[in-house]
Amino acid sequence: PLVQDIANALADFINPGLGNAAIIFDFIRGYTSLTRIEEDEADVILDMIEVRLLMTALIESLRQESGMQPWAYGEEFNRRCVPLLAELRGERRAEFQATIRRAASFPPKQDVRQSTDDVIARRRKVMGDKLYVFYDPPLHIVRGEGVWLHDSAGRAFLDCYNNVPTVGHCHPYVTEAIVRQARTLNTNTRYITGQSVDYASRLTALCDASLSAVVFVNSGSEANDLAWRMAKAWTGKRGGLAMDFAYHGISEAIDAFSPSNSPENWRAPHIRLLPPPDDYRGSWRRGAPGLVQNYAGLADPLIADLDANGLGVAAFIVDSAFMSNGILDVAPGYLTSIAAKVHAAGGLYIADEVQSGFGRMGSNFWGHRHHGVVPDFITIGKPAGNGHPLGAVITRPEILARFLKSGPFFSTFGGNNVACAAGIAVLDVIRDEELVRNAHETGAYFRAGLKSLMQRHAIIGDVRGVGLGIGVELVRDRTTLEPAASEVPRLLNLIRDEGVLMGGEGKLGNVLKIRPPIVFKPEHADIAIAAVGRSLSKL
Ligand code: PMP
Repeated sequence: PLVQDIANALADFINPGLGNAAIIFDFIRGYTSLTRIEEDEADVILDMIEVRLLMTALIESLRQESGMQPWAYGEEFNRRCVPLLAELRGERRAEFQATIRRAASFPPKQDVRQSTDDVIARRRKVMGDKLYVFYDPPLHIVRGEGVWLHDSAGRAFLDCYNNVPTVGHCHPYVTEAIVRQARTLNTNTRYITGQSVDYASRLTALCDASLSAVVFVNSGSEANDLAWRMAKAWTGKRGGLAMDFAYHGISEAIDAFSPSNSPENWRAPHIRLLPPPDDYRGSWRRGAPGLVQNYAGLADPLIADLDANGLGVAAFIVDSAFMSNGILDVAPGYLTSIAAKVHAAGGLYIADEVQSGFGRMGSNFWGHRHHGVVPDFITIGKPAGNGHPLGAVITRPEILARFLKSGPFFSTFGGNNVACAAGIAVLDVIRDEELVRNAHETGAYFRAGLKSLMQRHAIIGDVRGVGLGIGVELVRDRTTLEPAASEVPRLLNLIRDEGVLMGGEGKLGNVLKIRPPIVFKPEHADIAIAAVGRSLSKL
């Protein structure tokens, strides 16, 4: 009855050739400013206007045929109906539909039928000609749900790649939290708001007791950038230590810690790079005596060199999952040893948990716990908001206090109500669905299945990782370890043709990266393992 009201009134207000879109907009905007309507109601208004016009025209002609008096409104009023119907049902129909949705405050529907070629051509024009996309031809994704992504042709793909939607694409609990908060309030931490304090408390409750201060930003890069500034303020030093081929973000300061951005052109005079403790193809291999001490010992000359150059070590930064290094199995004791060396040199330890945090590595909520380290900073990004932009630095209160002596720090969007609502919802889901345990169990099952493929496929040199961060290293020869790098892009396309999405990783580009949302279950692993097996047979 509500939308009938709107439709009948509008059918009487419009006339052929008038500015009908504007009339429809103003009427519905006015009406819904007092009485909201639902989306499904908005979408039937145009049909109902047409029904009203059609019925008027039919009744009028019936009356004429049976010799009755014309309607009191007059013939002229009724004669508008047929040309109006033609106008509403003509080439401007989509415009009228969109006008009604806008007026009732419903954003346009995404046109999932757009042709992929058309979107690519338009993207080249407005987003730069150098397309950095996965797969050839690229995927045109229009919808996500749990561990599944759907393309524009309606095909479902099993997502074994995306770590950002860590509790699953479009998790209903998280999206509802975001929508509700967006409807209520979204502002900044210069006002006293409950969400940011609640979220900060929830985060620190998950950390070592020493790490009780949280500063909110909007991305992993920003979190690392801020941790680096704090480390310099605390130590008074200017040098940094990172892993070779690491990735920590995009800001100018953090690009220096990210040799993988440009391995050939990487130059950062104040940073030293540690060779990764790769126990598959590095200088010391799995089971070699003294492996941990030997790899950790590589830090000594680098630290000494920073000191000799008057820089010192302000901070060491590391991703506990060693994701960009090809997802390494790092021996226990390696990172505690590096942490001790860095601390002895007066530096701080930044645990970049953008990849390894939020249960990714199973068993522990944080990656650094897997290594037994207590860091000076935890930086978070990607999975924290399940896709909603959100980053933070968690540190010791005295480090934050020292940093704030140099001036105030404020990030406009950092800690906004909606981002914090998303963050809290993610923590709820990880707890309620026991996702840390799931990452551990499903990860072990997944790795065992991939390892079983090694008997039939000599190209698989190594299967490794912790929790649901899994690396499959491909080699042309298991003795020489010649990397099978050019095979990886072809293999990824074959796996995608099987309906499964994975990535490539590592300095040599020969590692399959498997890093699904951590709601991934053994039955999904079965699908993925079978797809990898069939694709390897076709390679
Ligand atoms: N650190 C690590 C370990 C990352 O993997 C990334 C993103 N891939 C970042 C930091 C940067 O995060 P963002 O893209 O949110 O700036």
